[in-house]
Amino acid sequence: QNYKSVALIVGVTGIVGSSLAQVLTLPDTPNGPWKVYGVARRPRPSWFAKTPLQYIQLDVSNTQETISKLSLLTDITHVFYVSWIGSEDCELNAVMFKNILDSVIPNSPNLQHISLQTGSKHYFGIFEEGSQIKPHESPFVEDVPRLPVQNFYHDLEDILYEETSKHGLTWSVHRPALVFGFSPCSMMNIVSTLSVYAVICKHENKPLVYPGSKGSWNCYVDCVDADLIAEHHIWATVDPKAKNQVLNCTNGDVFKWKHIWKALAEEFGLEMIGYIEGKEQESMAELMKDKDSVWYEIVKKHNLVPTKLKEIAAFWFADIAFSAVDLGHSLLRWTGSCYGDFEHPGTDLCFRHDDKDESQNPA
Ligand code: NDP
Repeated sequence: QNYKSVALIVGVTGIVGSSLAQVLTLPDTPNGPWKVYGVARRPRPSWFAKTPLQYIQLDVSNTQETISKLSLLTDITHVFYVSWIGSEDCELNAVMFKNILDSVIPNSPNLQHISLQTGSKHYFGIFEEGSQIKPHESPFVEDVPRLPVQNFYHDLEDILYEETSKHGLTWSVHRPALVFGFSPCSMMNIVSTLSVYAVICKHENKPLVYPGSKGSWNCYVDCVDADLIAEHHIWATVDPKAKNQVLNCTNGDVFKWKHIWKALAEEFGLEMIGYIEGKEQESMAELMKDKDSVWYEIVKKHNLVPTKLKEIAAFWFADIAFSAVDLGHSLLRWTGSCYGDFEHPGTDLCFRHDDKDESQNPA
């Protein structure tokens, strides 16, 4: 087949990486037909077997391995970097990204664009305990200065800016809100985390109790569908107006965790117990810490694809999402992001400008 574009997706089994692989391989995707290479450390998962791509099993934190496997690829036109090491270590995350660019840039003469995914932590600081940084005021806009805190997003951006300017490439940085997506190989999948929690409640004949704070139960939250971020990445490779820009990405509407809780209880046929007045937040990570064997029983009973609980549920991440006392002043208070007015001709991509007055924000 004659391909018009060739993608390298780093983090191809992740929450956005897997959506990108699906969308890029559709017949009517802009700049297509796309040939897709996808990289991740683990062997190709069975749920991902049918997506038409060349899967490369590789640990990109290993410089030698990355160079030896990726320097063989000479036809890459676009890099989509949608990965992280699973910790906020600046050095490790920077090495991963640098290894990719050092392997691809000298060997792919038709390389045009590097698309980097970071996220809203750019505006409110990192997750690490003890980070007392004052977040930017919401709604978040892309051109605010960096917060004075070590954040691996800054390191990734600096590498991106330096390498693309040195080699005459275009770039885009995508800053999604909380991502809702499918991947069971993601380190931060809130949908699978909450679903697994509900399934464990069901298995133990317990009601679905909300463990989060009062603030998080009542405040507005924004999120973004993984497929939409995938389209956002692709849009930036197509439209000249989107290139060389930092772009926030959210669905553009808001919800409350109480709405999700109701839907979750209905979906799994559970009695719902929402926030109990006066109750402090309980840690889900703590509540679920001894449930490995319960998950094993569930997997066996329902003949599920074998997984370890920690692989498909990030209870620590739910703890952050449900602790909206602090984040409620920033990330979770407002639908947040500002896009330029844009409707991409010939696709259903639509990015709208949300210019509501903050005084209307009831949170
Ligand atoms: P995921 O955790 O969903 O996926 C990570 C992917 O990278 C997986 O395919 C993983 O597969 C692969 N990977 C991890 N380490 C390596 C490695 N050393 N070598 C090769 N592949 C590797 O990532 P996200 O999409 O969540 O995160 C990407 C960026 O988006 C991060 O900066 C994150 O902070 C940001 N973000 C995420 C949000 C979310 O809700 N998830 C919200 C907003 C921003 P394997 O483990 O098999 O290697």
